[in-house]
Amino acid sequence: MANVSFEEFYYNEDDQIHDLYEIQKEYEKNNGNISKYRGHIFCPECKIAELSFTHKTSIRRAFLSKIPSSDHAEYCSFKHDCATKSEIKQFVRLLSDKQIQDRLEAALNQLLPKKAKEGSGINNESKDNPLVIEVDNKKGSGVRKFIPRKSINTWFDKSEKNKIFIFYGHAKLETKEIATKNGKRYELIIKTNKQNEWIKKTSVFRGTTNDNIDTKKIYDIAILGIIEFYNDFPQIKTVTFSSIMFR
Ligand SMILES: [Zn+2]
Repeated sequence: MANVSFEEFYYNEDDQIHDLYEIQKEYEKNNGNISKYRGHIFCPECKIAELSFTHKTSIRRAFLSKIPSSDHAEYCSFKHDCATKSEIKQFVRLLSDKQIQDRLEAALNQLLPKKAKEGSGINNESKDNPLVIEVDNKKGSGVRKFIPRKSINTWFDKSEKNKIFIFYGHAKLETKEIATKNGKRYELIIKTNKQNEWIKKTSVFRGTTNDNIDTKKIYDIAILGIIEFYNDFPQIKTVTFSSIMFR
């Protein structure tokens, strides 16, 4: 199985999900001493597989990976290999708009639970993990793989250009009108909270749809999409027109 890197982790000292960035900060502040995390960081989904931290260098970003002697829970999506872009597109093509919306909503329930205390773990009985899909292998039988996820609060790196993710997070939204020679088109602006300020993080092209948005409200958003960069600014292209949901 390919070694997956994690951008978030479960910290068993406070029972919360944290960003990888925190450990890198601690590493820099304490000259490489990250003992407060060692032995306390786990898979953000099942909270069972133990992770280890590899610090950033001039040529590589920091990352978290599973320690080889540890394993994910049976129901955890990370138990499987990561689905490729074409496998995900193929899978989505067979779904109705309603099925795509339902899956995004289930993904949000798992990734952004209502109560912070629940962490982002999923419950042990859940057999239908919304982040796991069944894809055909060459022998004609199904194999389970996971859809990679990306919090909209994390860094969007140029190396991720053209990659597919379920993007998720809390956001403030705004619509922007774009005048084109074929008439009005709309863009959905996504702002994330950075040090108590809502800052434009990315946007999604919405075609002729002018979403009905309350700009004061904080939304939960999930998008199955692909990262693109325009003039260095990251944009998300939805895989299908309906592969976006906010609530
Ligand atoms: Zn896991």
